This record gives sequence, structure tokens and C-alpha cells, in this order.
Amino acid sequence: MKKSVILFSGGLDSTTCLYYAKSKGFQCYCLLFDYGQRHKRELNSAIKIAKIAKAEYSIARLKLPWSKDVLTNKNKKVPANRRIDEIIPSTYVPGRNTIFLSYGLSFAESIKADAIFIGANSLDFSAYPDCRPQFIKAYNALIKSLNLKIKIEAPLVHLSKAQIIKLGNKLKVPYQYTWSCYNGLKKPCGVCDSCKLRAKGFKEAGLNDPAL
Ligand SMILES: [Zn+2]
Repeated sequence: MKKSVILFSGGLDSTTCLYYAKSKGFQCYCLLFDYGQRHKRELNSAIKIAKIAKAEYSIARLKLPWSKDVLTNKNKKVPANRRIDEIIPSTYVPGRNTIFLSYGLSFAESIKADAIFIGANSLDFSAYPDCRPQFIKAYNALIKSLNLKIKIEAPLVHLSKAQIIKLGNKLKVPYQYTWSCYNGLKKPCGVCDSCKLRAKGFKEAGLNDPAL
């Protein structure tokens, strides 16, 4: 059986990616990151979903003592009702996907996996530069330079949020357990970028968000 490492946060995109990889016949190893995010909510969702999907999971714990972004600093406020445009917002964690892919590559090489799946998308997103197709392409070139046969798969990179949700619905993704909100409250806040993009996606897909 083909093996894959899934960079997994328990959010809408990475969960769709996990179910997509399963549908393509991959044995899935979820890689979760505890990188000092402002709440444990998403990590708990990720563990729950990995178990439901009968996927193995590992948690990598890392510290970024230099980080000044909103997502790893509880004292900073998550921007609310922001107009989402081309400007990189304060929730951007510098180098995050480079770090995650490097851990993913180490994991994939260790277990002789064929692929690393990442749920990056570049249409309905917060302009994070490390979610763009050219970044994925460049990282694949880096892996090739190491004479490894591992490929980064980013099946959502050209899809809108609505298209991702429609794909996930077909794959029976348990969206009710996914957590997208940047705030770790009891319920999604509804006003952060992530909540707004998710709501827009469900609306455009003509579906109700089962997590609400
Ligand atoms: Zn939110």
C-alpha cells in the first residue's frame, strides 16, 4: 500500500486532504503540530478526526521563541471582520509551511512514504505566501535535489473553499468535528478570517456547516 504523511491540523482543508488521500488508496500518517498555538482546540479536533479516519498520528512539538504573530501569542487580538485582500495579515506565522513540510519530509523519509499531503489553497485564503502553488512547486524541486521519490501533493491548491467543501462532502468528510476558528472559544467566533472564509465556502456550496 502507498504511504503518505498528511500535514494535519484538524481544520477543514487538511481534513479534506486526509479523506482525499484515503480515497486515492494511501495509508495515512497524520502529522500534527503543537507549535504554541493560542488554543488547544484545533489539536483536540485533529486527534479526534485522525481516530475517526483510522489514521495513525504523531504530534511534533516545536517552539518558535521569536514569533510575534497573533496565532502563537495569546495576548494579541485576532483581527475581526477584516477585509480579506492581498496584504499578509497579523495571523501569518513566518515560515510555518516551510517548517511543517520539513518535518513532514523527515517523517516521510523515515517511514518510506511516497507522498506528503498539504491542504494549502490559494484562492479563498489570507494571502499567506507559503500557500501558493509556486511555493509547493519549489519545495518539490528541493525534494528532488535530495534524490528522494517523495512528492508533495496539494490537491486543494487551485480550488475555491466551496469546491473544497463539495469535494469533501462527496468523500464523507466529518466536517462537524473540524475546527477552523483562530480563537479557541466554545463555538467558532464567526468574525476571524478563517471563520469568514469557511462561512463563505459553505454558503457558495449551498450547504449548512455541520459544526455550527
Ligand atoms: Zn473564528
